Amino acid sequence: MGVIVAGAGIAGVACAAELASRGVDVTVRERACGVGGRLAVHRHAGRPADIGAAYLTVSDEDFAARVRCWRDAGLLREWTDTLAAYEGDARGPDSPGPMRWAAPGGLWSLVADAARGLDVRTGHPVTAVRPGPGGRPVVDGEPCDAAVLAMPDPQAARLLDPDTAAGAAVAGRVWNPVLALTLGFARRDWPALPAAFVNDHPVLALVADDGDRRGDGAPVLVAHSTAAFARAHDTAPERAVPELTRAVRALLGIVADPEWTYVHRWPHAAPATAREAAFHLDDDGVGLAGDGWGRPRVQTAWLSGLRLGRAVAARLGH
Ligand SMILES: Cc1cc2nc3c(=O)[nH]c(=O)nc-3n(C[C@H](O)[C@H](O)[C@H](O)COP(=O)(O)OP(=O)(O)OC[C@H]3O[C@@H](n4cnc5c(N)ncnc54)[C@H](O)[C@@H]3O)c2cc1C
Repeated sequence: MGVIVAGAGIAGVACAAELASRGVDVTVRERACGVGGRLAVHRHAGRPADIGAAYLTVSDEDFAARVRCWRDAGLLREWTDTLAAYEGDARGPDSPGPMRWAAPGGLWSLVADAARGLDVRTGHPVTAVRPGPGGRPVVDGEPCDAAVLAMPDPQAARLLDPDTAAGAAVAGRVWNPVLALTLGFARRDWPALPAAFVNDHPVLALVADDGDRRGDGAPVLVAHSTAAFARAHDTAPERAVPELTRAVRALLGIVADPEWTYVHRWPHAAPATAREAAFHLDDDGVGLAGDGWGRPRVQTAWLSGLRLGRAVAARLGH
């Protein structure tokens, strides 16, 4: 029995860690070969570059306490509170904001740290979650005390019957895609910027200096496309590389071609509209968590998992 959590992104791992800390028997099943979900890195010659979330920000006290632990463990560091801003191809005034935190080993290392000591089975996709007798859900034919789906709504929808409460909660919700292009250059040949928001651009939404972010000064940039551009290259992201590369070089005035590039498509990067609720949990014992529950941010995903973990533990009398 016990609780089965599907998804080892930061929401699923936060949920499982909270359950385990309250004495609940919990297993995490992750379809990918590693943990982290959208806090992913691409390694080139062993060096990681963040290709999912560009950074994290903190406004909640519970999350701030977790972030301080990660900082003290050397996993997270304050990066910058000021980003560059471009309108089309023109650089405008810098954009001050909250502190952006970055991870020297990549943001996935936070999830790996939170998952230590948990029973996490990677390469184990969940295929179907159904309500069962006595408020005990059935996951791939196996009854359990509760089931948590910690993933984007369209991924959860594939596992659920739309006639159930959880199935209805995720049905038809639109999520936007992003193409993330990592570019490695021979040398740093662009104006100083930790990262830049790019507004009103047909191709680019954000460009981050991964060498600055990582703190090793490597000549590596990561660019995020607009959702419209990603949709237009839905079936063949590789074909988008020349146009994305041209856009980055034009924006930052880079003369040289990159030495290497790597493109990753995120089909469900962020929900098109945010919800108010922090998670879903019904009497049938099926719960939903992730950054689809609140503003789509790392902090939201972590809090959603934590709060659902507390609610599931309370339901089970822990
Ligand atoms: C390009 C991009 C840029 C972003 N930038 C920022 C930013 O700058 N700041 C910020 O705060 N946030 C940012 N985000 C958002 C941030 O990455 C997310 O909020 C957070 O990582 C979501 O975590 P999650 O655990 O909810 O979901 P995910 O990380 O998506 O985890 C879901 C997990 O479920 C697994 N899974 C799916 N289906 C199954 C199945 N059937 N069985 C088992 N496992 C399954 C997946 O493999 C995945 O590991 C960005 C995201 C993207 C994609």
